[in-house]
Amino acid sequence: MSDLPEHAGLSTRAVHAGEGRDPATGAATVPIYQTAPFGFPTARALEDAFLKPKEGEYIYSRMGNPTVRALERKVTALEGAEDAVAAASGMAAISTAMFTLLTPDTRLVAYRDLAGGTSGFFHRVLEPWGVEVVWVEVGAETGDGAVLEEALGGSASVLYLETPTNPTLKVVDIEAAARLGHGAGATVVVDSTFATPILQNPLELGADLVVHSLTKYLGGHGDTTGGLVVGGAEAIKEVHSRLVDMGGVMDPLAAFLIMRGVKTVKVRLLQTTENALAIARHLEAHPRVRRVNYPGLQSSPYHEVAVRQMRAFGGMLSFEVDADLEEVRRVVDSFRMIPIIPSLGSVETTLLLPAVSSHYKLSSAEREAMGIPDGLIRLSVGIEDINDILGDLDYGLAVLD
Ligand code: PLP
Repeated sequence: MSDLPEHAGLSTRAVHAGEGRDPATGAATVPIYQTAPFGFPTARALEDAFLKPKEGEYIYSRMGNPTVRALERKVTALEGAEDAVAAASGMAAISTAMFTLLTPDTRLVAYRDLAGGTSGFFHRVLEPWGVEVVWVEVGAETGDGAVLEEALGGSASVLYLETPTNPTLKVVDIEAAARLGHGAGATVVVDSTFATPILQNPLELGADLVVHSLTKYLGGHGDTTGGLVVGGAEAIKEVHSRLVDMGGVMDPLAAFLIMRGVKTVKVRLLQTTENALAIARHLEAHPRVRRVNYPGLQSSPYHEVAVRQMRAFGGMLSFEVDADLEEVRRVVDSFRMIPIIPSLGSVETTLLLPAVSSHYKLSSAEREAMGIPDGLIRLSVGIEDINDILGDLDYGLAVLD
C-alpha cells in the first residue's frame, strides 16, 4: 500500500531487547527489586561502591536499581542508543534533562506544539528561572530553514521538539531541525512519545537526546507513570547525576510493569496503526467531520515527511466535528464504548476534547492558531475490533442528525 510504509525494520527485538536473565537467580523475567538500600559485606566493599562505581553494582535505589536498570537497557537497545535513564514520569524525565542542559541566561528554542505539561514547565518554571524561551511553529525547519535559524539566533543551548505533535498530529522534520540546531550549537531534544522507538528513532536522524513518556505506549496499559531520557553515554551520565540530585526516580514496580508493556509494544502499535488509518479514512468521508489530522492520510500536509522518518503512522489522530462545543459534548457523551480519558497510548480506544482539557489554558485565538478549535476530538486508537470502534463513532456522530 503506497501510503503505509513497509514494516521492514520493525524488528521483533522489542520482545527481548537488552534483557537478560536475572544474574542472581536465573529468573526468566527481571524481578522487582523492591528495596531502597543494598547491603555491603565489608567496609572496603562499601567504599569501593562509592569511589569506583561499576555497572551492575547498586548502593541505594535513588542512585540506581536493577529492575529500573533493566528497563533502561531495554529502551537503549530499542533506540539504538548508548544509554538511558528512567524517571518517575515523562515530566520528571523532561524536567531533569532540561535542568541538566540549561542554566539561567541560556536560550531554549521550542516548538509551540507540545504536550500541555511540557509547555507549562517551560512557561512556569524555566522562564521565571531565567531561561530565554523562543517559540517556533512546526514547519520552521522546512524550506531553507530561515525561520528556525532566526529563532536559534546563531547560539542556543537546546532545541526542543515533539513529533508527531499533540493533539494536531503535525510532524516535524527531525533531520532538518537537528541540522539547524547543531549549526547554532544546540543540543537537540526530541519527545518521541507518540511514535515510540518502534515507529521512529530520532537519534538516527540527528537528535542528541530522546525523551519518552513511558506512561503512554511503552507501558501501554494505563496503569503506571514513567519517563525516560535516552542518548549518548556522556550526556546520559550527566542527566542521571542530575536525577540523583533532584530525586524524581522511577519505582521498581513501575519499571517492571513498563517492561512487561514493552514486550508487546510492537504488536500493539501495528494493530493500532491499522485501526487508526481505517478510522481516519472513515471520518474523512463523514459528512459531519470538517477535518481529520492523521499523518497517514495522503491529504495530510505532513504525510511526506512522516513517510520519510516514521516506519508507520501510529495510533493517535484528531478530527474536527462540524458542531459547536455543546453539540460536541453531546457527541462524546453518547459514545457507548469509547470513554473520555485524559491520557493516551493504552490498549483501549479513548478520547479527549483538547480545547476544554489539555489546552484549556490557551486563549481561543491561540488555540485556533494551533488548529485546536472547540470541536476537535482527539482519539487514542486502541487495539479493539475495527468494526466496534467505527460503529461507536458513527453512533455518537448520529446525534447531530
Ligand atoms: N510528552 C507527551 C507527548 C505527552 O503526551 C505527555 C503526557 O501526556 C508527556 C510528555 C508527559 O508525560 P507524563 O504524563 O508521563 O509526565
